[in-house]
Amino acid sequence: MKLYTIDTGFFKLDGGAMFGVVPKALWERTNPADSQNLCTWAMRCLLVEDGDRLTLIDAGIGGKQDPKFFSHFHLHGDATLDQSLAKQGFHRSDITDVFLTHLHFDHVGGAVERQGDQLRPAFDNARYWTHSRHWEWATKPNPREKASFLSENIMPLMESGQLHFIDGDSDRISTPLGFDAFVANGHTDAQMCPILDHQGQTLVYMADLLPSVGHIPLPYVMGYDTRPLLTLEEKARILNEAADRGYLLFLEHDPLNEVAILTQTEKGPRLAEVQRL
Ligand SMILES: [Zn+2]
Repeated sequence: MKLYTIDTGFFKLDGGAMFGVVPKALWERTNPADSQNLCTWAMRCLLVEDGDRLTLIDAGIGGKQDPKFFSHFHLHGDATLDQSLAKQGFHRSDITDVFLTHLHFDHVGGAVERQGDQLRPAFDNARYWTHSRHWEWATKPNPREKASFLSENIMPLMESGQLHFIDGDSDRISTPLGFDAFVANGHTDAQMCPILDHQGQTLVYMADLLPSVGHIPLPYVMGYDTRPLLTLEEKARILNEAADRGYLLFLEHDPLNEVAILTQTEKGPRLAEVQRL
């Protein structure tokens, strides 16, 4: 199994919303805000080459929404999904599978593109994977999460016939893609965090369970999470395991840090070092 970082650029979100009840005086040490209280976040995907299978984990925000939508998110940075794939010697037509941790727009937007007045899957040759319970949740969204589940990102996948479902209610499930995943229900229902092998070490794609190194202290839970106390429990379990076993934690949203390694302290898991893949 070979892993490649696929940068798709940066966006901005309100710092307070990203850190929930944590005071700004604490979170701005790791994530400085601009004059509108917005912080910069990456949309860092991961490509998994495993024999003939080439799986893209998450797909960034994409480019099909209108200027008004994008004006809220201040997209910036030079990286695009196509350029990042090309840098590693791949083209989007090579992708055999697209694994979606969950269906919030900053994770799935790039999975669907506009062609003329049609919306269609952006990866012609790929099977798309989502958790069956998350699909139910996202297609009948609650009012609080509704703005994150955009039908133009979701329905074209179903209509294409390229969508497949992963089932399983335990904390750790196996997938048909050659890796397992943690299932976390605090951020949204049935978010999947892939557990991969990187040169003999365990690497976990943390998605929105741990957006950045600024979120490592256990109570630093996003205001967006639908079940914050459950996120706290899930983080405690996975971050303690990561600190004890030396996991590499791949950070989708951290603007600077790609991979975090934790250590156990009296205060709980803390950052030991950061790496690039
Ligand atoms: Zn999310």
